[in-house]
Amino acid sequence: MNNASLRILLIQDNLSEAKLLQQTLWHLGKQKWQVVHFEQLSDAINACSKSIFDIVLLDLSLPDSEGLNPVEKFYTEVPNIPIVILTELDDEDFALQGVANSVQDYLLKGQITPNLLRRAIRYGIERGQILKQLRESEHRLHFMFEQTFQSMALLTPEGIILEINQTALNLWGRQQQNCIGKPLWELESWNFSSENQEWLKSIIAKTADGEFVRHELHLHSTNDVMVWIDFSLKPLKDETGKVVRLIVQGWDISEQKRAEAEIMKAWEQERELNEMKSNFVSMVSHEFRNPMSVIRTAVELLELYNHQLSDQQRSKYFRNIQTAIRQMQQLLDEVLFWSRSDAGKLQYEPILLNLENFCSELTQTLQLSATQKHQIIFSFQGKDTPVLLDENLLRYILTNLLSNAIKYSPQGGVIIFDVNSQDDNVTFQIQDSGIGIPLKDQHILFETFHRASNVGNIPGTGLGLSIVKRCVDLHQGQIYLESQVGIGTTFTVKIPLSDHSVQSLELIESSSDLQTQSLLRDRTLRAIR
Ligand code: ATP
Ligand code: MG
Repeated sequence: MNNASLRILLIQDNLSEAKLLQQTLWHLGKQKWQVVHFEQLSDAINACSKSIFDIVLLDLSLPDSEGLNPVEKFYTEVPNIPIVILTELDDEDFALQGVANSVQDYLLKGQITPNLLRRAIRYGIERGQILKQLRESEHRLHFMFEQTFQSMALLTPEGIILEINQTALNLWGRQQQNCIGKPLWELESWNFSSENQEWLKSIIAKTADGEFVRHELHLHSTNDVMVWIDFSLKPLKDETGKVVRLIVQGWDISEQKRAEAEIMKAWEQERELNEMKSNFVSMVSHEFRNPMSVIRTAVELLELYNHQLSDQQRSKYFRNIQTAIRQMQQLLDEVLFWSRSDAGKLQYEPILLNLENFCSELTQTLQLSATQKHQIIFSFQGKDTPVLLDENLLRYILTNLLSNAIKYSPQGGVIIFDVNSQDDNVTFQIQDSGIGIPLKDQHILFETFHRASNVGNIPGTGLGLSIVKRCVDLHQGQIYLESQVGIGTTFTVKIPLSDHSVQSLELIESSSDLQTQSLLRDRTLRAIR
């Protein structure tokens, strides 16, 4: 106690007892005390809202506490002032009980000496301060316990919940009042499977034996989503080394897991891409080697045996050379086309196209390059007005589908090429009776470098359809296939048409001024794109 004067609140209805107490205080040195006396509890409580007191001396037998324990009443209203109670001898048990709760000390009336009073006041103030600090620190800890985004709980060594924070409840379930005193494995999340519960019981037993346990768990959270938890159980020991409590901690690491999975996926894609690229290089080299060896052989034969060869044989070797060169050219074109489309450099540049003529010419070209065993039957239905399509992309789509139909019909046969042009869309259908495509391979054929499992020795890089798909996408169209192994395959491409823009382009094209024509044309095309 320092030398500054202490403010004492005395609540005592008996005036002579109050006077006696003030006199006792006076004996201790008048300058140290400032006593404010109230006969009624309610007046004293009111005074506390206006002035600050260091301690209260409270008589237990006050008339206005209306049956309520005056200590309880005072403490509820003014919790921060240390209380020393003044009690009768026969109330000592009650006084002791009070000291265990909100009262700092007690004095037995009739036995109050100056020294006892001084000690009670000093002790009361000191104990009050310590309790206040304890309460504050407990409050801080509790605040942290409740506010942390980590799930936390305190268990008995048997796994019974003593305390659990809100984060843990949000994650694992139930209201706090329902789960205090219950085993941890009865919370909703653990309840989902008996396997989980058994596992939790077993690690609780391990921790109760003094082991620290930490695991990553995939659990049902209360809102029925699966979450990843970094879960740990730590034993808390007393000074003898006995495990007295278990500390449960859990971090929701679902985000981290998701990020890890994404990195793994990206890494896997990168690995697949690298693998594809190296496959591609070996595939392309292989595809070049075949026609090159055809050329080499033909050239050698022509060089060495030129004079012995008949005209027919000579022209056969020249034809072989030309076919091989064409194959290499086609392959080169395809690779270049693919690299442009892969770099996003393919442009959609529509022009007005006479579809029937365009498809008929294409059929003739492909028929020329096909063997005698194959026959392409072309038919056109619908409107014969020009349509707005990208000529290069469309040529690529149809050439590829038609040459696939030829290539994958090694026995030969009829290839039906139907075109149906309507007001708002055009449909191309190419049907062959070739080797067909196994069902399990059909969904991956539009991806780069994928080939069906039944191609055997038929050459190919698996690039064509992936570029076809991109060209169809650039037209905002759709492509689908139907196929049966050994029966044949039908590819269908459906492209939407913008009638309005076709009409505007027709008008522009009929305009006589060339400059206006080109200006309007550019503007219309930009609008269509
Ligand atoms: P290329 O790049 O030279 O075209 P490719 O023909 O193997 O090689 P795609 O055109 O992309 O590649 O076709 C992919 C795969 O789809 C083929 O390898 C083949 O397995 C299958 N396929 C495509 N069209 C047909 C068809 N008409 N009949 C049977 N299988 C087909
Ligand atoms: Mg192909």
